[in-house]
Amino acid sequence: MCGIFGVANVPDAARLAYLGLYALQHRGQESAGIVAIDRDGTTRSHRGMGLVSENFNDQELSRLPGDMAVGHTRYSTSGSTVLANAQPCFANTRCGALALAHNGNLVNAHLLKADLVRQGAIFSSSSDSEVIVHLIARSDAATPDEQIRDALEQVDGAYSLVITLGRTLYAAVDSRGFRPLALGRLGDGFVVASETCALDLVGASVVCELAPGDFIKIEDGAVTHLRRLSPRPVTRCVFELVYFARPDSMVFNESVDKVRRELGRALAREHPAPGAEVVFSVPDSSNAMALGFAAESGVALEHGLIRNHYVGRTFINPTQALRIAKVRIKFNPVREVIEGKSVVVVDDSLVRGNTSKGLVAMIRAAGAREVHLRLGSPPITGPCHYGIDTPTREELIGATHSVEEIRQYLGVDSLGYLSLEGMLAAAGQGPGQTERFCHACFSGDYPTPIPEELVQLRHAAPLAGAHA
Ligand code: SF4
Repeated sequence: MCGIFGVANVPDAARLAYLGLYALQHRGQESAGIVAIDRDGTTRSHRGMGLVSENFNDQELSRLPGDMAVGHTRYSTSGSTVLANAQPCFANTRCGALALAHNGNLVNAHLLKADLVRQGAIFSSSSDSEVIVHLIARSDAATPDEQIRDALEQVDGAYSLVITLGRTLYAAVDSRGFRPLALGRLGDGFVVASETCALDLVGASVVCELAPGDFIKIEDGAVTHLRRLSPRPVTRCVFELVYFARPDSMVFNESVDKVRRELGRALAREHPAPGAEVVFSVPDSSNAMALGFAAESGVALEHGLIRNHYVGRTFINPTQALRIAKVRIKFNPVREVIEGKSVVVVDDSLVRGNTSKGLVAMIRAAGAREVHLRLGSPPITGPCHYGIDTPTREELIGATHSVEEIRQYLGVDSLGYLSLEGMLAAAGQGPGQTERFCHACFSGDYPTPIPEELVQLRHAAPLAGAHA
């Protein structure tokens, strides 16, 4: 998963992008980059590994003058965490300098790349996004707008993009609409961001969220809606609402906070915990869910776990024997809230189960009489091929164990997963309503063909790794 940000016609655009990327830091912590374009069309870039704060300072931003910029924060799978894959991608083309920031993952990039390599193309990274750059640069279409369209009609999968070509900023969302992208207005200019929380931070007003298939360009201070990309069934990523997006964002025209509260309410209806005395979240993504659970069930909401916000991206993993210590680096229980009580712990999802097992052990060690775990999504049974770094099927506890086996493994008194129907309804899809969400990692119902090579190469080959 990634965060992307684009600026057009705003002075000191790189500084604005820097602020915007701060608001999108939760979408990717492995690298950060900004490309800025000045009024003469001169393009300058800076990319580096790590957080936005680790990569940019006043001096660095001063070296990125211009009124246009694109920025990117990247999250990658382990095999492809290298500077060469940091974005924005950047290349000189016959239509001018091109910079591209991508959120999502393409499912046919490996096939397109093999073709391009056969034709003599040289790749400088193993990121699938570079395939889009090559396709744009090589297109025979008559105009830059059509060159980009030509490229986007060839790729399949998930992409929300901000692209600069010369002094034009483009933004596009694939026709299935997997990942969010919002357009904002700031003074005489425009800003495009993965989530509206980034527009809020820079003081931009929200113009609209780009719809699936939207393709726009911003030039000379005006937005033009170009012909939409070829339509496909809409399958927005429901996990954005469950876990990834910030609760203060509007995503897919829904308030993330509101959806998460509703997920919690639905969870309390589907899996009540009779006799429970307190409910608390695994902070932070589950906070609103725990609020909803408490409101629906009448069980008192407490802060039972405190999260340490200063844990860096990398710390040396202790041995398995020190699992609780590993969890405790991130969370610590409030003994006064927990001791002697029957507690409900609300979390958004369960991936491998290791962290939850450590958490449960910690909560029991703090004196909980009973621990009831409630999850605001169904069991995750398959990997994501659209830009979320879920592990392979074999590593997913929901794919390999029954709910009862998971309950025993985690050591909880009861375990309740929200149903698929309950999750989709809370996210805004009514019964009998046309599908509007991708839920493949829960249901196995993938909205695109998944080539066998992609499954095989998902973690082995950097190209196929979810990078965004
Ligand atoms: S497979 Fe899961 S995480 Fe991936 S896009 Fe679909 S719902 Fe989102």
